[in-house]
Amino acid sequence: MERLQKVIAAAGIASRRKAEQLISTGHVQVNGQVAKAMGIQVEPHDHIEVDGVPLTTEKKRYFLLYKPRRVISSVHDEKGRKTVVDLFPEVNERIYPIGRLDYNTSGLIILTNDGELANLLTHPRYRIEKQYTAKVEGIPKVEALKKLRTGVKLAAKTTAPAKVKLLSSDRTKNTALINLTIHEGMNHEVRDMLTAVGYPVSKLSRERYAFLTTDGMTAGDSRPLQPQEVASLK
Ligand code: URA
Repeated sequence: MERLQKVIAAAGIASRRKAEQLISTGHVQVNGQVAKAMGIQVEPHDHIEVDGVPLTTEKKRYFLLYKPRRVISSVHDEKGRKTVVDLFPEVNERIYPIGRLDYNTSGLIILTNDGELANLLTHPRYRIEKQYTAKVEGIPKVEALKKLRTGVKLAAKTTAPAKVKLLSSDRTKNTALINLTIHEGMNHEVRDMLTAVGYPVSKLSRERYAFLTTDGMTAGDSRPLQPQEVASLK
């Protein structure tokens, strides 16, 4: 038995709070009856509809992928490029990536069909830490690192302070490796931050997402998340 709002949220229709609103405002039917009362419990065989559309209750699947470069973080691509979902041909459930990595960024991304987890992890309130290693053109000066640590003014908004570590620099090639940890999820955020302080990115990889790391994995590898890992993410 599960609470109705939890089942609706897990199907990816809405957050749990929004699901409660859908229930209390009469948008939800269970076995043909409007279910307006809070606290209703449902069984897997119950037929649930939201605005007349049946909920499909698939088995929940959770995978950690070390995305290679030149793979798109979506379910379909109009240009026919390989997607992260194409890397899971054996999975029958309709999984999708949580958040995005650029086409040319490698690194960790979770795929699931658990809409509640997707809502949670992409909500700014959760401030999931993501750690990247960037190869940049030029050797960053102390002032640039300071700007990254205090917040960089981008077109959309000023970024939150990042944790920054200069890992190495190559004076002959005029390049450097930087470790950057952020918790926001703006599109192209790391590339834009580094470009804004004068050091364009030539290579980017995400090697940590919350407590999940690339340890023991290489680009293209994936593994199911353990139930206790899923529980810790929630
Ligand atoms: N920031 C970027 O610029 N690109 C990514 O893929 C992820 C974070």
